Amino acid sequence: MESPLIKKSWNKSTNTLDIVYPNLYYGGVYCLAPIIIYNIVNNLPSWLCNRNFLDKQNITSNLVGFTFQYELDYYNIPKIKTKANSILFAGGPCINQNPETLSKYFDFFLLGESETLLPKILQYYPSKNFLDKIADFKGIYIPGKNKPTKAPLTDLDKIPYPIYQPFPEKINKDFVFGKVFILETERGCPFNCKFCPIHSFYEKVRYRSLKNIKNIIDQGIKINQRDKVVIYSPSFTHPAKKEILQYLIEKNLSFSVPSLKAEIVDKELFSLIKKGNQKTLTLAPECNESLRPSIGKPIKDEIFFQLIDYANELKFESIKLYFMVNIPNQTQNDLDEMIQFIGKCNQRFKNKLYVSINSFVPKPNTVFSDHTFNKKEIEKQLNYIKSKLKIKFKTSPLRIAEKEYQLAHTKNLDLI
Ligand code: SF4
Repeated sequence: MESPLIKKSWNKSTNTLDIVYPNLYYGGVYCLAPIIIYNIVNNLPSWLCNRNFLDKQNITSNLVGFTFQYELDYYNIPKIKTKANSILFAGGPCINQNPETLSKYFDFFLLGESETLLPKILQYYPSKNFLDKIADFKGIYIPGKNKPTKAPLTDLDKIPYPIYQPFPEKINKDFVFGKVFILETERGCPFNCKFCPIHSFYEKVRYRSLKNIKNIIDQGIKINQRDKVVIYSPSFTHPAKKEILQYLIEKNLSFSVPSLKAEIVDKELFSLIKKGNQKTLTLAPECNESLRPSIGKPIKDEIFFQLIDYANELKFESIKLYFMVNIPNQTQNDLDEMIQFIGKCNQRFKNKLYVSINSFVPKPNTVFSDHTFNKKEIEKQLNYIKSKLKIKFKTSPLRIAEKEYQLAHTKNLDLI
């Protein structure tokens, strides 16, 4: 049993929509997209919406929406049991980058944000020629019928917040963040990292106002009965980020923040994060200092060293550092400098340093979208690092990254 649920009465004229997160429940509960749709649709008077996951399915509607956050979830489509002749649609970051991959499997795609678009198109459901009626809306893409467009961006203070965030009554250790309230402070990012697909989803950065955020925290905590908040934002550049954290501290809430942009953090911010009970800091230097400008991250090593010193002073338990190989024009010399930099960070930080080195996966609609994915070359780079780096690092299997690359760039995927 989950709580809190939006309680609705059902009668013969009620329409229903099933929303699907095509992967496991313990991860899917932390994804905001199904929660947003659950809240929007259940707030419409004659509609009911249920959430479904790969391992928690009960699809009864004839209208079913999927959200795709990861390309590899495409393989789970055949495992989702929908009714015959249902209308299926999909949205989410992967779909925004390349809807053509799944054009065989969905009747339409929702591109951009759903908050204003979904209620508008649902007015036409169920009606004869539903797809014809919605085809002219910006953000509705029907392969073979119209051209892809994006739903217009909205002022975040003018759209309702997904306040009801259901969690199971009892959770196990797989639910890694525990029972939390997800606080989305902003959409988009003001930085321009050339490898990042964020701008293909959100063309510009928008922030919720501090006043609105405080209201959301008050309501969200009361309705959901949570004592921990997860801040959901691509780079947490909110101009009032310190005030937001201060407010959470005053409310006695613990919280976690996403990976931090080294350029815009300082000791005061670290100290607030510490007060929110976060024990680990996450930073993404990505590569060595001299290569960073070429990927749109012109940041000096010195800044990372300074942040490590702050983390020492504030006694953080661990720091996670993220790096990439397969960066365009990354030479062996770059790898050597990266290895030296990691070594210096490790010497400088007094507690546990976790290092992740993964392959860059070029995504469509990014500056680096034409860069290749050569598994053999990437393997060589990783093996070289393994032979030189004195500390252990984590890396994800290359066959998975390769699949992700292929799926992101495929047209008309055949899953059977
Ligand atoms: S800071 Fe993060 S979210 Fe922003 S563009 Fe760079 S990688 Fe993307």
